[in-house]
Amino acid sequence: MGIPTNCEYLIIGAGIHGLSTAWHLCQKLSKKGQLKENSVVVLEKTKVADGASGVACGIVRNNYYQPAMRRLMDHSIKVWNANADALTFKPVGYMQINSELMREGMSEVYEQQKEINFESTFIEGKDDCDKYMKDLLPDWQAEDITSVLHEKNSGYGANRGAIEGFYKLALNAGAKVFEGVEVTNLLSSNGSGSISAVETSEGKIECTQLVVAAGPWVRKFWEILELPNTVKIKKPDGTFTEDLQMWSYMALEEGELEVDPHSFKTSNGKEYPVIHVDTEATLISNKTGEVIHENEMWGFYYKPDVYRNCIQGGSSPYDIQKSNKDVAVDPYGHNSLEFQPTAFFEDKWTSAMAFCQKQFDGCHGKYRKQKGGGIGCVTPDRFPVFDQYKENVYIIADANHGYKMAGIGDLVSEELLGGKSDILEPFRFSRYEEGKLHPVSKSPFPWS
Ligand SMILES: Cc1cc2nc3c(=O)[nH]c(=O)nc-3n(C[C@H](O)[C@H](O)[C@H](O)COP(=O)(O)OP(=O)(O)OC[C@H]3O[C@@H](n4cnc5c(N)ncnc54)[C@H](O)[C@@H]3O)c2cc1C
Repeated sequence: MGIPTNCEYLIIGAGIHGLSTAWHLCQKLSKKGQLKENSVVVLEKTKVADGASGVACGIVRNNYYQPAMRRLMDHSIKVWNANADALTFKPVGYMQINSELMREGMSEVYEQQKEINFESTFIEGKDDCDKYMKDLLPDWQAEDITSVLHEKNSGYGANRGAIEGFYKLALNAGAKVFEGVEVTNLLSSNGSGSISAVETSEGKIECTQLVVAAGPWVRKFWEILELPNTVKIKKPDGTFTEDLQMWSYMALEEGELEVDPHSFKTSNGKEYPVIHVDTEATLISNKTGEVIHENEMWGFYYKPDVYRNCIQGGSSPYDIQKSNKDVAVDPYGHNSLEFQPTAFFEDKWTSAMAFCQKQFDGCHGKYRKQKGGGIGCVTPDRFPVFDQYKENVYIIADANHGYKMAGIGDLVSEELLGGKSDILEPFRFSRYEEGKLHPVSKSPFPWS
C-alpha cells in the first residue's frame, strides 16, 4: 500500500513517542467522532522500533529529583500499568540504593512522591538499609548504603516488544503506519512559516499538523526548520551562559550476563525488582583486583530480564565529545561501528554486581560478548523539550529519558487537539531564555 497524498496529522518516527501519540490521538479523535481514513499517519524510515526505543534497557521508574519529571513519570507509569499486557510491562518494582551523598536528595524525592500518592517505601540509616536489602536478597553485601527508595509500581518492559505493543494499539485505534518511508524534507507554502507537506522517499504528502518524534535524529528536522543550533541559558543572577549546542549526544553502554533470569527470586519468592545503585564506595575489579573507582560517585543498574533471557544492565553514560554535526547517528544502536560497550565497561559492570551480591563473584565469566547499547540525543540541560514551532510542528525531544514515558503521547495529543497540559508546561523551549531550569541531583546519571 502506497502512502496517501494527504493526511491530517503526520507523525515522523515509529518509536515509543510517535506510536503512543498516534494511538492516543486516534482514540481522542474517535471519541469526538472526528476520526477519518487518513487522520493519523506515521512514517518510519526503517522499521517499527528500529530507533532508541528498540534498544532501550526498558526500565520504568519515577525516581527523579525534579518535581516536574516526577509528575510526568507518574502519569506515564499509570499508562504502563493500565496496559501492562499489551505493552509487556512487568511491575516488579524499582530500587534506588544510595550512599550518604545521595541521602538528603533521595529523602526529598520520597516526600514528594508521597505528596502525589506515588507508592514507595523509604529506608534510612546504614543498619536499617542493610537489613532491608538482606531481607529481600540474602546475599546482599554492598557496604555504606544509607538510603533505599523502593518504588512498588515501577519495573521494566521488553524494548522491541513494548514498541510492537504500541504499534498494534495505534493500528487498532485507526492510525496508518508506513515502514521504509524516509522523510527527506519539510515544505512550507505561500510564504507562511507553517509546514504544508513533507517530501519522502516515496513521494510527497500534505498534512495539516506535523509531529516530529524522530528520537536521536531530531537534529535533522531542527535544522530544516531553521531553529537555533545554539542557545544561551539565563543564569540565576540574570546574565546568560555562552552559546551552548542545542543538541549533543551521549553513549549508553549496556551488557548482559548469560544466566537464566527465572532462577533469580527474592526471599519472598517474587521476581527481582530493578536494582540501581549510586555510591562513592571504592569499586575493585572482580577480575584483576585493580581499583576501578575511588573517591568519586559511580552508578550502575541491573535486572533479571525474562524477555532477553539474561541479567541485563548498564552504568552511567558518557558524553560524546564531538560537535553534534560530527556524530554518526547511523548506523544506529547495535549496528553502530563506533559506539559499543568497552572492556572497561564489562569489568566495571560485572565488578559492581559482585560488589552488591555475593553470588555474582566471578560473574564476568558469564558476560555475553556482543554488541549493545546505543546513543541518545540530549538538550543543553538534559531534560526534554516538548513544544510547538512554526505554527504547526510539534517536536517531541525527550533528551533520552523516554522509554519510561509511555504517556507522552496522551499529553501531546491533548495539546494537538487544542488543550494545554500542565504536566508538559515545564518542558517548553522558552525555559532556556527564561532561566526556568529544573533542579539538578547529585546522581552520576544525567537522568535522575
Ligand atoms: C541503550 C539505551 C538504553 C536506554 N534505556 C532506557 C531505559 O531503560 N528507560 C528509559 O526510560 N529510557 C531509556 N533509553 C532512552 C529511550 O530509549 C529513548 O529516550 C526513547 O526510546 C526515544 O523514543 P523516540 O520515540 O523519541 O525515538 P526512537 O525510538 O529513536 O524513534 C524514532 C524513530 O524515528 C525514525 N526516523 C528518524 N528519522 C526519520 C526520517 N527522516 N523519516 C522517517 N523516520 C525517521 C527512526 O528510524 C526511529 O525509529 C535508553 C536509550 C538507549 C540508547
